This record gives sequence, C-alpha cells and structure tokens, in this order.
Amino acid sequence: MKNNKIIKHYSGKSSVIEENGEVFQSRCINCNNKKCMKYMPNEIANDNVKIPINIVDDVCPTQAIKYENGKVIIDNKKCIKCGLCASRCITGAIYYDGKKFTISGYEMGKEKDYIDSIHCGEILKESNELLKEIYNDIIRFNINPNIISRNLLNQCGIQTILSRKGDVNLRMDAIIINNDKRGVCEIEFNNDVLSCPRCILDDLAVLCSRYDYNLEDTLSLVVALGLPNNRTDYWRVIQDTNNILNIKIQTVSIGFLLITMWNFKKINLISNDFYKDCDDNSLYKNIEVLLNRKVNIISDDNSIFEPLK
Ligand code: SF4
Ligand code: SF4
Repeated sequence: MKNNKIIKHYSGKSSVIEENGEVFQSRCINCNNKKCMKYMPNEIANDNVKIPINIVDDVCPTQAIKYENGKVIIDNKKCIKCGLCASRCITGAIYYDGKKFTISGYEMGKEKDYIDSIHCGEILKESNELLKEIYNDIIRFNINPNIISRNLLNQCGIQTILSRKGDVNLRMDAIIINNDKRGVCEIEFNNDVLSCPRCILDDLAVLCSRYDYNLEDTLSLVVALGLPNNRTDYWRVIQDTNNILNIKIQTVSIGFLLITMWNFKKINLISNDFYKDCDDNSLYKNIEVLLNRKVNIISDDNSIFEPLK
C-alpha cells in the first residue's frame, strides 16, 4: 500500500507524487474494479437504511464510458463533461484536455498502490459557457435525475441510496447519510420542484412511522437542476416548515455539486449550512467558503447559486 498524492491539472494529464517524492504522469492501469465505470455495492447500498434500494451502479449518466477491446474508452459524442468518471479514477488517468475528456496511457500497475491515494487539484474549471453546455446536455439527453444526483452527492461526501421504484409503496427518491446522520432526499429537475418540501414531509412521516427513524435526527435535502424562482412559494413553504415544525429542508443545485466535485471538496449537511429560505436563498457564500476563492460564474443563468429574480 502506498500513500500517493494525485494532482489533477485542468487541461492536462494528472501527476502522481509518490511517498519518496518521485513524480510521474497518471496512466490507466486497467484495474479490476473500474471505479470510473461502476459503483461498488457498499457505495450505493447500506443495510442501515432499511428501505428497498435501486441497485443501478453506473457512474456515467449517459453510459459514455465503456470497456471495449481490453481498454476503457470514452465516447465523446455521448459525454456531457460532468467529470464523474474522472473524479473516481483511482490513478487520475481520466482528464479534460481542454475540449474533451480522455484517458492517458495504458500500462500495467497494481490497484492496491492507488487505493489510499489522496486526490486534489481541479478536474474542470467552472465557467458560464461550460455550465450552460452541461445543463443543455442534461436536458438534451434526458438524463435520469436520480442517477446523476446520487452520483454527484456520493462524490461530494453524502452517501446516497436511491429507493427502488415501481414494486414498492415508497415515494421518496433517496436516503442520504452524512457523518452517520440519515435523512431523506427529493430530486427534481423540472417545475415539480415546488412540490418537494411537501414530499419531504411525506417521506419523513413514512420513515419515522414505518422504518423507525427519529425525526429530530433526520436530515432533509432537495436537489434541483436550478434553484426555484423567487416568485414561487417554494422558499416560503421551506420557511413555514422550519418555523412551525422545526424541520430544516436544505437545497442544492446540480451545478453546485458539479463544481464541488471538480475541486475534490465535500459538503456537510450536519450544520444546516444549505438551509435556504425566502430571507436568504443564495448559495454563493457556501461555494466560496468551500473553494476558498471566488467562483467564476458571472451571470447565473441556470440559477446554480441564486434563483432568478
Ligand atoms: S465525463 Fe461524465 S458523461 Fe463524460 S464519460 Fe465521464 S461520467 Fe460520462
Ligand atoms: S480509468 Fe482509472 S479507474 Fe478506470 S480502469 Fe483505468 S485506472 Fe482503473
């Protein structure tokens, strides 16, 4: 086991710094587990949550990354540049070359030498153009909101277990676990986001009455493509729910999660920092604290950090 440090360079191949100070370029070692393509069972399931779960284990929301002729390859016609695969590659071999995601080299290597590596640097640099492109592709490819949200939350430090739909009478989208605290998550990419606060209350009632959850110890999270418009009653309902029931529903956008993941940062829901309501519904401060710098999004057309006025 080695304690390598892997540094992602935006627009270039990653570097591996070994414990002895030796530096070399990351290469794909064709590892057995292929975390770039699949989640491990313990990442998408958790016996403690006690609900029937969805076991879809794909990392890529468009199946653009595949294993063909003994190599991992990326189909750039399908790639939406989310960076999920790059954030999971154990050697840092998947990188953005300025135009597209690609994989550097192929060589033999030992998976165990990389398991405990520390990853840092930048997978992608945020910009209005890039986020606009990704948001357009999410809509164009009709991407499954639950899968991309689960995968991004997992990469941002919130273990997310999707509930199985169809054959069970369970309406919630996902259970989240953050620092041993469990909670519910509603995921909505269209105007139905307005119904999310009410769905969260429904989810909490089901979990507490049927699955033995303790209401006071439960987190609540809404994941939206963009933050709901100020003219809607979303933020008012959130505030009412907090005032009357003392339930703090937190809200994040997909763009927020993407930028967090691109910078290898983790979010923490325990301190309710993502509780936003009609008095303050801006996520700008949250992202700047996380990144420890200004965020490079000037006109927030996709409501990643602030609702449209
Ligand atoms: S960057 Fe995203 S869309 Fe592209 S191959 Fe990787 S996971 Fe798939
Ligand atoms: S791209 Fe990374 S995670 Fe995927 S097989 Fe190669 S080394 Fe393993």
